[in-house]
Amino acid sequence: MKRIAIIGGGISGLSAAFTLEKHRRAGASLEYVLFESSPRLGGVLVTEWVDGCLLEAGPDSFLTEKPWASELCREVGLGDQLIGSNDADRKTYILVKGRLVVIPDGLMFMVPTKITPTVLSPLFSSGTKLRMAREWFHPPRKADADESVASFVDRHYGAEMVERLADPLLSGVYGGEASELSVRAVLPRFAEMEATHGSLGRAMLAARKKMALTPKTPAKPLFTSLKDGMQQMVDGVAARLPASELHMNRAVQLIQRQDNSWVVSAGYASDEFDAVIVATPAQAAAELLGMASEGLASELRSIQYTSSVTVNLGYDRNVRTSLPPGFGFLVPRCEGKRMLAATFVHNKFPHRAPEDRALLRCFIGGARNEQVLLAPDEEVVNIIREDLRQIIKLTADPLFTRIHRWKGAMAQYGVGHLERLQRIESLLQHLPGLALAGNGYRGIGVPDCVRSGSDAANSALRALGLLEATPAGLAS
Ligand SMILES: Cc1cc2nc3c(=O)[nH]c(=O)nc-3n(C[C@H](O)[C@H](O)[C@H](O)COP(=O)(O)OP(=O)(O)OC[C@H]3O[C@@H](n4cnc5c(N)ncnc54)[C@H](O)[C@@H]3O)c2cc1C
Repeated sequence: MKRIAIIGGGISGLSAAFTLEKHRRAGASLEYVLFESSPRLGGVLVTEWVDGCLLEAGPDSFLTEKPWASELCREVGLGDQLIGSNDADRKTYILVKGRLVVIPDGLMFMVPTKITPTVLSPLFSSGTKLRMAREWFHPPRKADADESVASFVDRHYGAEMVERLADPLLSGVYGGEASELSVRAVLPRFAEMEATHGSLGRAMLAARKKMALTPKTPAKPLFTSLKDGMQQMVDGVAARLPASELHMNRAVQLIQRQDNSWVVSAGYASDEFDAVIVATPAQAAAELLGMASEGLASELRSIQYTSSVTVNLGYDRNVRTSLPPGFGFLVPRCEGKRMLAATFVHNKFPHRAPEDRALLRCFIGGARNEQVLLAPDEEVVNIIREDLRQIIKLTADPLFTRIHRWKGAMAQYGVGHLERLQRIESLLQHLPGLALAGNGYRGIGVPDCVRSGSDAANSALRALGLLEATPAGLAS
């Protein structure tokens, strides 16, 4: 009987456990134990109900086009609980010189695919619109080295596009700065488009033409979530796992290689395993693996993380009717505000707030404002309320507020991230049975984390001869 340890009970660790469980039930000779340091499973996936409203403390949904999270939900019997975003009301605003300006129709991240809405939009100056036209003639370029998203976007569309769009969009997803994030790791499709077509506009048009030739399928909503929130996914997966193998309040302190096995130390107890899946943030993985491989620990330590604070605020019917339509807004750094973004939750998904309630979810923190994590609740709420007053003239007292702090939760894929992953892969080749999963490697979103967990489980199974052999290593 082979024994596998999973460290971390966030969605990555749970996905790894679920994959192992499927093999165990199919007859593989294995047992596994999941160690989670906190009293609950799910990591940053936390849903709460307050005053009839569904509050998400961490992620509220995932991208529909990445299938792995929806697939996991279906496998655990939650297929009929999946819901799509209200895309008929989808509109996102950017704060420009103190005014909310809607992102024009047809803009794919920063690439305009429809001429009229872009030309008419006050989001861009005439200089940037001219750059968009010139971008059409951008020659193909096979970059020999990675670069930052900011420098890539600047080359194509100029600094205003970085400031008004790329930076706030990435702040929303990574809590990071476009000038620090790797274009190859964060926007691989755009880097490929440049290599093949030169112009991103022309590449996008070619992709659309190709799509038009394939049989039409009904348009899918951009975001998917669950009727009762993201916690439902955690509970659904956990319900399929043997409770006796899920150990909460068990922080692992050390993972060591001893002869042909792995020794996992948690509290005063140590236990031997044939394989270990480390599904914690990379920084925590570095702490655990220092004794097993200082080289690996040092690579993991160099993957930076930022912190994030979410503030949910509930309001009455009057506020609901006074808010602009759409999903919410993003705040570029140059606007001098402290909040990064706000979601109008009652518009984004059905049934998240009763008809007579408005629910706003605001973000603060990130690379711009790491110290807000230490501010008392009252100060955080005051900052958010002052920004809301200035941006959307919202002065009403909230009916309730809830603050959630996520220290070091958002991985930053800095320039050179993919090369770092290659070095990590090579180091793992010398550590048989060790696999890594989580948001520090090949995708920060929930679907990527689900995939990283199942890939890590398959990698551990292969190393133990329980799956046909292909190269083991980092979950891709
Ligand atoms: C505020 C916020 C909003 C987000 N919004 C979205 C969104 O809308 N859509 C989307 O797709 N993604 C979103 N993300 C990103 C996504 O939610 C995360 O990247 C993903 O959930 C991370 O899952 P994980 O299991 O890898 O890590 P985590 O959720 O961080 O779980 C890691 C677990 O490991 C445990 N652990 C750590 N050290 C040890 C140890 N030594 N021993 C035992 N256990 C340990 C921790 O307690 C934790 O439970 C968001 C993230 C945040 C923070």
